Amino acid sequence: MSSSPKPLEVAIIGAGFSGMMTAVQLIRKTTVPLSLYLINDKYEFGKGPAYSTTHPRHILNVPAAKMAAYPDQPNHFLDWAHQQDAYKEMDKEVLGKVFLPRRDYGRYLVEVWAEVLAAKRPDTAVQIIQDKAVDITTAEGQNKIELASGQTITADYVILATGNEPPRNLPVSDPALYDDPNYIGDPWNNKAVENLDPDRDILIIGNGLTMVDIVIGIMDTGYRGVIHTLSPDGLAILPHRYGYISYSKLVEEVKAPYKLNDLYALINKHIKVFKKSGLSPEPVIDSLRPITQKIWQGLSLEDKQRFMKYLMPHWNKIRHRMPGHMYDYLMQRQIAGGMVVHRGRLLNMTQTSGGLSAEILETNTDTPIKLDVSRIINCIGPNTYVSQSLNPLLQRLVSKGMLHADPLRIGMQVTDHWTLVGADGQEIPSLYTIGGNLRGLLWETTAVPELRGQAEKLAGEILSKATNV
Ligand SMILES: Cc1cc2nc3c(=O)[nH]c(=O)nc-3n(C[C@H](O)[C@H](O)[C@H](O)COP(=O)(O)OP(=O)(O)OC[C@H]3O[C@@H](n4cnc5c(N)ncnc54)[C@H](O)[C@@H]3O)c2cc1C
Repeated sequence: MSSSPKPLEVAIIGAGFSGMMTAVQLIRKTTVPLSLYLINDKYEFGKGPAYSTTHPRHILNVPAAKMAAYPDQPNHFLDWAHQQDAYKEMDKEVLGKVFLPRRDYGRYLVEVWAEVLAAKRPDTAVQIIQDKAVDITTAEGQNKIELASGQTITADYVILATGNEPPRNLPVSDPALYDDPNYIGDPWNNKAVENLDPDRDILIIGNGLTMVDIVIGIMDTGYRGVIHTLSPDGLAILPHRYGYISYSKLVEEVKAPYKLNDLYALINKHIKVFKKSGLSPEPVIDSLRPITQKIWQGLSLEDKQRFMKYLMPHWNKIRHRMPGHMYDYLMQRQIAGGMVVHRGRLLNMTQTSGGLSAEILETNTDTPIKLDVSRIINCIGPNTYVSQSLNPLLQRLVSKGMLHADPLRIGMQVTDHWTLVGADGQEIPSLYTIGGNLRGLLWETTAVPELRGQAEKLAGEILSKATNV
């Protein structure tokens, strides 16, 4: 009797967009029997914190025409959206420029998954496991994954697609504050805006896109209090306003080898031309996107460190913009007094008999102010330093020396083909990662336009490695 060959076993830990789309690409591309394990906790399969929201006004920050799940089918999402009842009547070109609700994108991903499963080879097996991975042991080419439930999974290859981590906690005099139900450390938890006292003020720490989500989430609840927000730059977030401009002159002039000073001078030259015409620099910076990763990889570590110290806030301000109508809403809310933006830094947060209190030092002042609020929501952005991760799996891998931070502490130390490098400097060839965990290597590795290409590349890399041994 002939026995069938052992299938290639791949386990993906985390099934947000990156994990799910890597699975999709493995299923589409495999030419050998394949067993896939998708281990995911906390969020609905495929959606992660970004697309799990059910709020109709939580919208994509990338226009529909750029949100296809497949790199080789650029209109895939737009075509899907145009077939939906809600958007059928719309001019397709206009629809492509619209920032659609993220919950619609979540529905699209559900359909992408269903379609791929329906067309899979009979010798491809897929198992979705709703559980938390807590440890990985690697020995003799096999990986054993331990789950919180006690179950174990073995696999030839493991992909860490663990995605966005909640923000790090800010230092306070009494850490008991972190257990207070009105201190929200994870702003993507739907509970962040539930059961708010409609007449009492709240404080949001951070002034980025997550803050915008929180404000939007509150807006339909009959809330009458004041929303205070705090960050060193105040409300620096910009609206999308130059969708009609596509600029190519800068990229034509950018040449390797890349040096930060030269790039800075060159970019400034182009920005000055824009400013002369009354335009701000966003299209100039956006035009670098196709080569941003290449430039980043060509910079010296010293230049990367200088970029992060001096230029990163300006870069982030230009790159992470919000849809224009959301911007208008925030402006109106400020004018009406329903939102107060504080420029400064947090000194402390304490529990009081009536709620929470925050001590703030506003920029250019010497005397701290106190804000008494019913809730404080931490929106300072995802924690990227793996040594301070709250994810038990990453904590365990760090403690075993299988995982450590890249030199900039913004992602994981990896090889150029995305396998982990342990604390001893040795590659772990069967352990891969994708998405935000590659930030140290790639810098811009957050949004769908980058992640869909990564999913395809990673699936191809694993399949060619597995079938060439
Ligand atoms: C609120 C928000 C809005 C966004 N909006 C957009 C947008 O409009 N357009 C865009 O292009 N990008 C957007 N992004 C960027 C977003 O990061 C990517 O689009 C994408 O969703 C990231 O997917 P991911 O799979 O890498 O990570 P995540 O979506 O974070 O998924 C990771 C998954 O892994 C699970 N996980 C982690 N550790 C374990 C473990 N130990 N065991 C089991 N499971 C685990 C998590 O619970 C989660 O389900 C947004 C991000 C956020 C946070």
